[in-house]
Order: sequence, then structure tokens, then C-alpha cells
Amino acid sequence: MRTNTKRIMTRLILLLATVSATLAQPSAQGVNFYSIEREIELGKQLASKTQASRQAQPDTRLQAIGDKLAAKTDGTFQCHFFVYATVDPQAEPIALPGGPVFVAQSMVSADDYVTAAVQAHAIAHIVLRHYTREMTRTELMEIGKKSMPPNLGSASSSPAIEMGIAQFKKKFELDADRLAVKLMIDAGYDPQALVRWLQSLPTPQKAGLLDDFPAPSRRIEVVQQAIDAAH
Ligand SMILES: [Zn+2]
Repeated sequence: MRTNTKRIMTRLILLLATVSATLAQPSAQGVNFYSIEREIELGKQLASKTQASRQAQPDTRLQAIGDKLAAKTDGTFQCHFFVYATVDPQAEPIALPGGPVFVAQSMVSADDYVTAAVQAHAIAHIVLRHYTREMTRTELMEIGKKSMPPNLGSASSSPAIEMGIAQFKKKFELDADRLAVKLMIDAGYDPQALVRWLQSLPTPQKAGLLDDFPAPSRRIEVVQQAIDAAH
């Protein structure tokens, strides 16, 4: 019985990952407990905390580039761009729900196209509602754990479940890269700038099934495929 419960949880997570992975085009569809209004409100709260803690500032150049890209979305979310200084080599922009984006100064390139690539990736995360979909998945996991007998142990300790979660996160990154290609092309930017940005990222020391972030080489492959498909 207990084994069955754990097996069902494992299958549910893997099924969700599989269904998600088979969607051909990146989409904001998927289980999401958050309404658009609640998502925008959450983003505002997180942005004010992030702005204060990172001493981030709005940036007119980034905003102008971002506006060109965001004009090619359906307009559900309005993106606002902030820049912050850091010594952290973290290479990902912070895309908060509903629109705020925080970009490290070190990621802002003198090349407008490469800067646009970073921003297009962040806008794609927002359009695809990745933050609240990830929160929803975490909440579902919590519900699942609470419904399990206490002496069974954590459902999330299963390697199969951990692998399912890692696959989710990887798919979100690759989906953001795919949509970024479309946004770049639609806004009149050369999408090869996405490749140039990804080539500048450090290569991870090792890659495994439980890693939740795709290697830059895999991202470049996916971006190149999306560029080829668009022509
Ligand atoms: Zn990302």
C-alpha cells in the first residue's frame, strides 16, 4: 500500500514531465495555481525586495531594447528592467513573475544584440509563466507529501522523482531559449546573438541526469535548431 502510494507519486511526476516534454512549442499552458493578477502582484512584491537587497537600478538602454522585444509578445505582462552590480559569476538574468527582470552588470554587453539575447531569454521565462508554474509544482509536491504516511519518508527523496523535477527545470530553460529565438527574429535582432551569449557561459564541471540546468552546449544546439526551423 505504502509502496503503491510512492509508486503513484513517482509515476505522476514522471507523467507530468513527459507530457510537458512532448509539447512541440513552448507554451504558458500547464498547471498553475496563480491567476495573472496574482502573478503580477507577486512579481511587484518580489521586485521591490530584490531592488532593495541588490541595490538595483532601472536602466534606460535595457528598457528600450526590452520594449522592442516585449512588443512581440501578447502584452499580458509588462517587462521592467533593472541592473545590479555583483561579483557573482551567475550568468542567468532574474526573471520575476509578471514582468520585472534583473540583469547583472557583468551580463550587459556593449553589443546590443547580445544584450537583447539575454533579455529575450528573460522575457520568454516571464511570458511562459515559469516562476509560478514552478511554485505550483512545488506546492503540488507538498500536498503529495502531506497525504503520505509519515513513516514513509519524503516522496521527493526518490531518485526517479528528483530526475523528473530536473527534467522539468531543464525543459523550462530550453523553452525560454526557443521562445527567445522567435522574439529576437520578430523584433529584428539577429538570433545568432543568442549563440554568442551562450558560448560565453562557463561550461559546468560535470553533467548528469539530476542536474537541473542544461549545459550551454545543449542550449546552443536547441537555439540553432530553432533558428534553422525559422528559416
Ligand atoms: Zn533561464
